[in-house]
Amino acid sequence: MSEPLGFIGLGIMGQPMALNLAKAGHKLAVYNRTPGKTAALEAAGARVADSPADAARDANVIIMIVSDSAAVESVVTSKGGILETLRSGTIIIDSSTISPTVSRKMACMVAGKGASWLDAAVTGSKHGAEKGELTFMIGGDRETFDRAMPILKIMGKKHIYCGSHGLGLSAKLAQNTIQATMVEVFCEGFVLATKAGVKPETMLEIIQASMARAGITDFKAPFIFKGDFTPYFPLKLMHKDLELAAEAGYAQGVPMPVLAAAKEVYMAAKAQGKGDQDYAAVVTFLEELAGVKVRT
Ligand code: NAP
Repeated sequence: MSEPLGFIGLGIMGQPMALNLAKAGHKLAVYNRTPGKTAALEAAGARVADSPADAARDANVIIMIVSDSAAVESVVTSKGGILETLRSGTIIIDSSTISPTVSRKMACMVAGKGASWLDAAVTGSKHGAEKGELTFMIGGDRETFDRAMPILKIMGKKHIYCGSHGLGLSAKLAQNTIQATMVEVFCEGFVLATKAGVKPETMLEIIQASMARAGITDFKAPFIFKGDFTPYFPLKLMHKDLELAAEAGYAQGVPMPVLAAAKEVYMAAKAQGKGDQDYAAVVTFLEELAGVKVRT
């Protein structure tokens, strides 16, 4: 059944997610802060809203995926934000990776309008978003999760209910801690082997035949070997997630020494101006220190 939906944030992830909802026949009002990213959605029949409030006006469900905590707070609470027009009974699905604390605050604010909030962080990157095959990690009321499922199913293939508000994000921060440190240490190992004279493709063959094999390194290796750092997930956003995970560790009394080291490596690459490249560009920082390039 076609539902009136609002969609906010048409970046790398939001654009294909919104397109899948439009292709499924839903009536979309879309908003993006910077005009000019709406052409494909307009062509697919969406209405372009001039503010988050305008996108929210008629929506039964609002989906948002924007950069960080400040962006989510702005979309919800600023002048022209969704709180101005939010209707009782509306569900907000927020797929931005943000602070669980900020997310819980947003859930309380929208509850004041009779609306329900799900933190619905995703993994699967741009290709998963394009294919409608994302994995969602979801926090909020179970009943809201069940009501949102028809919409969530169009954007993803797996939907894991994690518990109360903020717990989807807590899971996401743990997942990205693992993913970011794996990619960083993969890069360290490949720089070490390359400097010694082992060819990167030989090293990959060894890793793929060993217990160190991982989906993320299988996926990233061909891009690293070509030096192609077109952003699937921008390095500055991965660094943001490591900052959030470090904050969570501090708040919960969980020591994370490897996260702390990897976070500084991503920070250094970001400081070099690599923040808009894919996070696999972290290899280039290590390459520059070692004076070698991991290329085939
Ligand atoms: P992106 O391409 O940089 O898109 C960011 C979006 O946020 C853009 O639409 C941007 O609008 C909007 N935005 C930023 N600040 C805003 C503000 N103050 N007010 C309103 N809109 C604002 O990033 P992305 O890769 O799609 O990532 C979006 C979120 O998904 C992030 O939280 C990220 O951590 C998470 N995520 C990404 C991936 C991935 O593989 N890319 C995977 C899982 C989760 P403009 O066009 O105006 O800049």
